[in-house]
Amino acid sequence: MIIIVKPEAKEERVQDLIHWIESQDLRTHISTGEYTTIIGVIGDTTKLDDELICGLDIVKGVKRVSEPYKSANRKFHPLDSVIEVGAQKQKVGHGSFALIAGPCSVESEAQIISIAKSVKAAGATMLRGGAFKPRTSPYDFQGLKADGIELLLEAKRETGLPIVTEIMNANHLPLFEEVDVIQVGARNMQNFELLKELGRIQKPILIKRGLANTLKELLMSAEYIMAGGNENIILCERGVRTFETATRNTLDLSAVPVLHELTHLPVIVDPSHATGVARYVKPMAMAAAACGADGLIIEVHNDPPRALCDGAQSLRPEEFEQVARAVETVRSAVCQLS
Ligand code: PEP
Ligand code: MN
Repeated sequence: MIIIVKPEAKEERVQDLIHWIESQDLRTHISTGEYTTIIGVIGDTTKLDDELICGLDIVKGVKRVSEPYKSANRKFHPLDSVIEVGAQKQKVGHGSFALIAGPCSVESEAQIISIAKSVKAAGATMLRGGAFKPRTSPYDFQGLKADGIELLLEAKRETGLPIVTEIMNANHLPLFEEVDVIQVGARNMQNFELLKELGRIQKPILIKRGLANTLKELLMSAEYIMAGGNENIILCERGVRTFETATRNTLDLSAVPVLHELTHLPVIVDPSHATGVARYVKPMAMAAAACGADGLIIEVHNDPPRALCDGAQSLRPEEFEQVARAVETVRSAVCQLS
């Protein structure tokens, strides 16, 4: 349920209403806009009488929200959410674009430091790199684990770039203390126990759409984290599995405008895992920027043929630089149009 408060309502009366709602074992989510305040009510709202609330002189209107995702719903929070990352509070969303780049996996000190420096020089705003890798085969490289996180932290110290890395097990959370954004990969999008644990912290979470999940399911996964109290979420479209074999996945770019309509959370696109082919990354990155994505996450490797994971889709640093420039051009063109 959302309660739209009259602009002239006295703060004290609004607080009384909020306390009264919360005293009935319901949670509230307050969204203060320039002209209106919206009280989102979460929980079993059948116990609330719409007409009674509507009759209050501080209330302009009451609407039932039928979607099962409440905190993530744009109806609860009409303005875009802006997520702040790292000590520098780097913004993501509402016009602030995140350009996240780096290797699929952290492989060595020399590799991650060299890639971090080159993506930073090309305009990346964050460094990605997997330390715990979800691999289809148990015989493939599984990541450097805790040592990989240490190397990412070293790259962060060298370049100042905030770091993004994937978690696969909530027991590993202590290792992620200094990580700036925790990634939940496609395979763990519906690992509900992991999502609940991530709801208990305040660090930004980048959650990727599952291989065969609907946008509503992605929003319900975000809701799991938000229900625990962590509202710092960035959604990521990374392609879904279809009958097509020319690309690794099929990039569903319509997810961007659809999610922007349904939720206030920022939405970024991963053209690397979506296509699986380095030469398709640039056109899809430009397309993502054109349709309003709030950022990109792109795999970059200094020696793609020798990469321990996802070499075929990894850009060389000089290719990434071209992509970064092309994306900037598209963004400014789109900005002039809207
Ligand atoms: C990754 O980012 O390296 C990764 C494994 O991505 P996804 O979960 O989208 O497959
Ligand atoms: Mn990868």
